[in-house]
Amino acid sequence: MPLPRTRETALRRRLANLRGPDVPAKALDARALAALAANPGCNRRAILDGAGVNKAALASALGSPSAFGQSQFALTRGNAFEARVKGDGGAELLRLVHEKLDPGAEPPSHAQVPELSAIGPEGRAARTSLALREATAAGTWTLLDHPMLALDVAGSPAFLEPDAVVVHPDGSWTVVEIKSFPMLDGSADPAKVGAAARQAAVYVIALEQVAARLAQEAPAPRVRHRVLLVCPKDFSNLPAGSAVDVRKQRAVTARQLTRLTRIQDIAESLPEGTCFAPDRPAAELTAAVESVPATYAPECLSTCELAFHCRDRSRTAGAVTALGRSVRAELGGLTTVADVLAAARGEAGDPEDPAVAALRRAAELRAEALGQGVTAGCR
Ligand code: SF4
Repeated sequence: MPLPRTRETALRRRLANLRGPDVPAKALDARALAALAANPGCNRRAILDGAGVNKAALASALGSPSAFGQSQFALTRGNAFEARVKGDGGAELLRLVHEKLDPGAEPPSHAQVPELSAIGPEGRAARTSLALREATAAGTWTLLDHPMLALDVAGSPAFLEPDAVVVHPDGSWTVVEIKSFPMLDGSADPAKVGAAARQAAVYVIALEQVAARLAQEAPAPRVRHRVLLVCPKDFSNLPAGSAVDVRKQRAVTARQLTRLTRIQDIAESLPEGTCFAPDRPAAELTAAVESVPATYAPECLSTCELAFHCRDRSRTAGAVTALGRSVRAELGGLTTVADVLAAARGEAGDPEDPAVAALRRAAELRAEALGQGVTAGCR
């Protein structure tokens, strides 16, 4: 639910102070949002993303630089491919949408491409909303090139920019994701397609919020849950399209987003003067980052720029989360490796606890196999 105007202004000021004076906010994109939703228990990531902190710069300042980011070559190649796909008024892109998602509709002989520029993300989001309403009412093929969508994330607005949204003649809306990884013989790397589907699901959720707002004036437009993925065909520069069903990713992400702690609550729990500006001394930055609880898991290594820092801290603390979520779940209330070893040796833990009982049994079996006593075996 949106905050009242005065509280929203106060929250923005607080987030700007956390980011640091004169540090520009890093926009939260769908990739980051999908990763945030994948680890909803991590308040550290939630507040850093909510405040627009550049986590890659922060990780470098902490002495644990991330291994993230695309090369300049890959970015240039991706931009050139996207420009080609959208060239000629989006004719090829609309042809692919018609062929893969809506073959029963009239073919898109020509399409509307409304102007979406405006001042600031709020202005662009309002302009996008207006263009969607007009295109839906007109009932013509319309291509929205880099629209801006506002999404409420943990009580704070995030602005997202999909590659494109297409309005069909029946008034329904389709998200288009353009990627530079190849589609070989009609299929692409499943891991990359999965990541693209999770991103597209975030855009679908944001579009559904726009549709719900428009529904106050007219019947709610339908947001399609099959998106169009466009990739280079067989290492060429020609576009190939594939319809991807994102219902599952949409449901999971929507549920996880509702589980995020409100950014305002996290911000208010931090000590006065906390600041994540990368030009602060490393010790001060470390203290600021450590003041926010984190839930590290090995999956962070592929989704979060702070992963090396959080992994080091997690290992130093002997936290079992560093061993993975499934191990963590099996261990119940035992949260550190020291607790686990003490429970296995019979020095601590409730013997009625199934996790403790299983650990002791495992320790006995191990000692038996090695011909040792249990205490000696669990070091
Ligand atoms: S790396 Fe750290 S901040 Fe990022 S999601 Fe994992 S625990 Fe949270």
